[in-house]
Amino acid sequence: MTKTTICGTDLHILKSDLPSVAVGRILGHEGIGVIDEIGAGVTRFRRGDRVLISCITACGKCEYCRRGMPSHCEQGGWILGNTIDGTQAEFVRIPFADTSLYPIPENADEDAMVMLSDILPTGYECGVLNGAVKPGDTVAIIGAGPIGLATLLTTQFYAPANLIVIDLDDNRLEVAKKFGATEVINSADGKAVEKVMAMTAGKGVDVAIEAVGIAATFELCQEIIGAGGHIANIGVHGTSVTLHLEKLWSQNITITTRLVDAVTTPLLLKTVMAGKLKPKQLVTHHFTLNDVMKAYDTFGNAGRERALKVILTNS
Ligand code: ZN
Ligand code: ZN
Repeated sequence: MTKTTICGTDLHILKSDLPSVAVGRILGHEGIGVIDEIGAGVTRFRRGDRVLISCITACGKCEYCRRGMPSHCEQGGWILGNTIDGTQAEFVRIPFADTSLYPIPENADEDAMVMLSDILPTGYECGVLNGAVKPGDTVAIIGAGPIGLATLLTTQFYAPANLIVIDLDDNRLEVAKKFGATEVINSADGKAVEKVMAMTAGKGVDVAIEAVGIAATFELCQEIIGAGGHIANIGVHGTSVTLHLEKLWSQNITITTRLVDAVTTPLLLKTVMAGKLKPKQLVTHHFTLNDVMKAYDTFGNAGRERALKVILTNS
């Protein structure tokens, strides 16, 4: 491993939201590294190659992989730092390396590459693509953490007219403005619905993207979605949420869920290398791997520390 990072999902794991993760598991499903050793089945990589690790392991051969849905790969999917040891370590074993790693181009910024393991494909696939964002749309992103901000960056591929970001943290909303939000709302006063309705002439938004993973934010999406709209859930939910079908049944709403497939990583890598997408701005803190507990403390208290993504360097 050269560099890795901590994901919001790792915090959900620490809160016991994900029972699949056994006690003692090495966490982490993001990062870049240099190949130290290859298994007999690997044909596309050699010792010494610099590689980007996808958060999704894909065998490339099973039914789900062939359907472009490696998140549900029969032998892979999200297994790193979940059911097998992950990337917050000096070394990591990557199964199905040929279809789960990407070569890192020369001149690539290493911190930017780490953002391609998970948060950029997650924001783009689960939020932007599932939300079917179109030019001219009014899009609301609920949650301005790293995933919400990655969604905010990639939503702009489609030129939405209005990009409303909702969060409880003024610092994050400030960042969202710098990243392209046209309106920001601090929902602490309980008036987010009212404000969104005022901004949209009472119609609601075309796309509501949930990037937190709690009941209140999914409820908010249901309250601000306009007729014909899309609610795209990204958040990792640990408890059930009320579905207001009594209001939504007649509103031509589409609700989507997804575990990132990371099938758009090559596309996103090209946009990063071309300078069209600048994910390095998501990195706020650097630590060495030996200071991993300090890094968790910083990331776990993101509001206090003004933290977005933290990079852990193995040195
Ligand atoms: Zn993640
Ligand atoms: Zn597969």
